[in-house]
Amino acid sequence: MATDYYAVLGVRRDAGQDEIKKAFRRLARELHPDVNPDPKTQERFKEINAAYEVLSDPQKRQVYDLGGDPLSPNGGGAGGFGAGAAGFGFSDIMDAFFGAASGQRGPRSRTRRGQDAMIRLEITLEEAAFGTTKELQVDTAVTCTTCSGEGAAPGTSAQTCDMCRGKGEVSQVTRSFLGQVMTSRPCPQCQGFGTVVPTPCPECAGDGRVRARRTLTVKIPAGVDNGTRIQLAGEGEVGPGGGPAGDLYVEIAETTHTVFQRRGDDLHCTVTIPMTAASLGTQVPLQTLDGVEEVDIRPGTQSGQSIPLHGRGITHLRGGGRGDLIVHVEVQTPTKLDPEQEDLLRRLAVLRGEERPSGQFAPGQQGLFSRLKDAFNGR
Ligand SMILES: [Zn+2]
Ligand SMILES: [Zn+2]
Repeated sequence: MATDYYAVLGVRRDAGQDEIKKAFRRLARELHPDVNPDPKTQERFKEINAAYEVLSDPQKRQVYDLGGDPLSPNGGGAGGFGAGAAGFGFSDIMDAFFGAASGQRGPRSRTRRGQDAMIRLEITLEEAAFGTTKELQVDTAVTCTTCSGEGAAPGTSAQTCDMCRGKGEVSQVTRSFLGQVMTSRPCPQCQGFGTVVPTPCPECAGDGRVRARRTLTVKIPAGVDNGTRIQLAGEGEVGPGGGPAGDLYVEIAETTHTVFQRRGDDLHCTVTIPMTAASLGTQVPLQTLDGVEEVDIRPGTQSGQSIPLHGRGITHLRGGGRGDLIVHVEVQTPTKLDPEQEDLLRRLAVLRGEERPSGQFAPGQQGLFSRLKDAFNGR
């Protein structure tokens, strides 16, 4: 290989385009003939220009990396290859090395699929439990009706690009160690589309789409939760050139309920009952999602006990059936006793032998107590 272009610019072989550009600019400022007219420096200046010409152009850099010199009129003299081996095109070699991807040919379409869009939707717990139907206002790109997505003003149409004759790419032939090398790049006049729009549609400025507000009716299935996303296929943004629309995702945000807390598909609530009712047992009316229900409080119910109401929770999103409503009971100790009530309670305490109760550790705290004792006694 004649010249090591990477060494000339002082960059690594895997250097990115930015790095190459920076190195070149730094050296060019230093070695520019206006700054430094010394003939040796001018020689160096020519070298860095050549190195930059090759390494800044992906196609030429590839040729160079494969052992050729894209600037040498006879190719780089890599063994048996030379001017004589001109029987096959460079793109054939590239295809052999990199697969057909680099050989993709022809103009690219102006039409592309649109982006997905997302919208948040607040619903109540009741709506989540049973499902609902909502009207949604969405602002998305829709196909421009003036030009039907074509991008051309009414009465005009896209014309075949005269620079690339509709191929979308322009080719350049250079000679290298492999013989003639044909390099292609997207056509600068039509950006690779193969067509140009001489008079863009005034409504959409040639994009083929405009923003519009639409109203959509969305069915929210029973059982959705915070963060559930409902996919509405084809209701997202229309693509450039009137391309197919992306999808719209509706993300559920459930508002906090004043009474029920949701955990999974179960609901939890707390009811308070007086001490006497907890002891004697009673029935309390409770407003559930399904209307008022009588909840059975059995005699001797303790504070903190919970009563499950099966099937009164949220509908399972998949598989049907419903979660439970768990009613947590909180027993209220009576306060502000009048003399008669106080007397009654004192007589009850005597009858139950509870005038001076010793207090008992509840299960679980006993273990903690003995550990504390052990710690005090140094065991
Ligand atoms: Zn238009
Ligand atoms: Zn063109």
